[in-house]
Amino acid sequence: MFIPDRVIFEKDAFQYKKAVELFDYFRSKGIEIISLSSNRVQGIPGDSPAEKYAEGKRTLVIGVRKTLKFQTCKPSAHFQLPLVSGCVGQCEYCYLNTQLGDKPYIRAYVNIEEILAQADKYIKERRDDITIFEGSATSDPLPVEPYTKGLTKAIEFFAERPNARFRFVTKFSNVEDFIDAEHRGNTSVRFSLNIDEVINNYEHKTPSARKRIEAAAKVIEKGYPTGFLIAPVFLEEDWKKEYDALLKMLKDNICHISNKDISFEIISHRFTAKAKNKILQVFPGTTLPMNEGNRSYRFGQFGYGKYIYNKEQIEDMKEFFQKAIRNYFPESRILYII
Ligand code: SF4
Repeated sequence: MFIPDRVIFEKDAFQYKKAVELFDYFRSKGIEIISLSSNRVQGIPGDSPAEKYAEGKRTLVIGVRKTLKFQTCKPSAHFQLPLVSGCVGQCEYCYLNTQLGDKPYIRAYVNIEEILAQADKYIKERRDDITIFEGSATSDPLPVEPYTKGLTKAIEFFAERPNARFRFVTKFSNVEDFIDAEHRGNTSVRFSLNIDEVINNYEHKTPSARKRIEAAAKVIEKGYPTGFLIAPVFLEEDWKKEYDALLKMLKDNICHISNKDISFEIISHRFTAKAKNKILQVFPGTTLPMNEGNRSYRFGQFGYGKYIYNKEQIEDMKEFFQKAIRNYFPESRILYII
């Protein structure tokens, strides 16, 4: 369970009962509390980029989501559902590293009812269509679920709305914190998996592959549509053997569960120049394979280029995963392999 080093309360948060409850809870546990006289977050220590990063990751901010205009979330969903921003994990390649500033604290919102009321407006505006909300566009929301219960409330909210869907992805395993929520198949949970060598080297402060898979088995048993995001895939040395062993471990843990609705998304490793610079500042000793000379350069849809594996390597990867997934999970859906 994530236990923050310090919890910062924004001034406006105390208008909500949940913030008062959390204040009492963290005070009773002897955790450092900072009550702000404004909504501007301050009080996180750290001098070097690495210290600032680590201190930010150990800081929980309890705040109020003021902007109730949701960001779009193409192509996988219509809107982001902003329950949490930031993540306690310390993955070296994380997409959030270039987005959350030098002290990437975790911010959890206490006005969840207002956020869900806004979601309801969007659903009603699009009443003839299914509206999909993504709960992890700027976070991994699961580590703070024991404190906020935001996912549980969202899952139960969407269970009552047949023309809406909710989805989120996680690398964490504390699924007991939401698993008993009434979902009626309207929430899908995706687990981000990787081989243990990658987890041990690059996904600091996250659970092992086995723990994630055991958590996924519990979620599948509860009837949630479940997805597996295998990413980033590193095509280094014995990669086929290791990813095959990962898929086999997944099969061994879930093959006994009937009526599974499972899907796969596979993404090869890629990086931008901006991300590489940031990674080298925060993790100066990183061993992430980021040699531009070994990659192809491709302009992305967001106006900047990425270094990706070359075409032959990607084709080889596609062939491998298609074959292995068909072999171990013949009834699953492969959404994409890129
Ligand atoms: S668990 Fe996900 S969101 Fe969190 S640091 Fe790792 S990659 Fe980023």
